[in-house]
Amino acid sequence: MSPLTDIGANLTHASFRDDLDDVLARARAAGVATIVVTGTSVADSGAAALLAERHAGVYATAGVHPHHARDCDPATIPALRALAARPRVIALGECGLDFNRNYSTHLEQERCFVAQLELGIELGKPLFLHSRDAHPRFAEILHHYRPAKAVAHCFTGGQAELHAYLKLGLYIGITGWICDERRGRHLLELVHDIPPDRLLVETDAPYLAPRDLRPQPKSRRNEPAYLPHVLGTVARALGRTIDELAAQTARNASVLFGLPPADSAMAQ
Ligand SMILES: [Zn+2]
Repeated sequence: MSPLTDIGANLTHASFRDDLDDVLARARAAGVATIVVTGTSVADSGAAALLAERHAGVYATAGVHPHHARDCDPATIPALRALAARPRVIALGECGLDFNRNYSTHLEQERCFVAQLELGIELGKPLFLHSRDAHPRFAEILHHYRPAKAVAHCFTGGQAELHAYLKLGLYIGITGWICDERRGRHLLELVHDIPPDRLLVETDAPYLAPRDLRPQPKSRRNEPAYLPHVLGTVARALGRTIDELAAQTARNASVLFGLPPADSAMAQ
């Protein structure tokens, strides 16, 4: 199989503290050659950047998740700007809107999102975007700012939302949500609407372990080694081969994030 790229894994999460090297080794053994570690706060993004600097084939994003938007203060954007200058930090985010949990107010979320959008556009960095139950407001803001390169990570929405994002030029990240027979079924149909050159796959580890993994992992923790399972589900839904889709999604990730080809990342 062609080397895979997991465009979103929260490897700074505490659940990976004790066995990160094993997790990375299993990912590599499973064919996942490139991993983008998600930064969700200033401190966490610093940890993600360090992790990326220490491991071949690992990159990081720098951003503030909408859950943490209430912590955005005048020091946040300068801190993200400094992180974005580090060579393994390849995108701004994750940033966006989450009107499902509302850990921060909508106003706090919008301010923090817009500040990161402006920074990403100024720096010419792609944006790693999170949107949950925030359509159409999320699309309205993007329509105004129009980042040149961005991905709607962990897409779980419906058809209208998908088409709005595609019209905005977004890449679409598909997670193990598509393997969830209770709430992900609609995605098996919707993935047909995603142009092949805009499709990305991700685990969002440690969250969203595919529900149909057999045998079920003892811990409920998701990890990048399960990415081929997600990719296989997408390939079956699309009637494409796993190999074809692995190569396509890895190529898309390289284009979006400006990554070197996976083979050279592995050889580093
Ligand atoms: Zn997210």
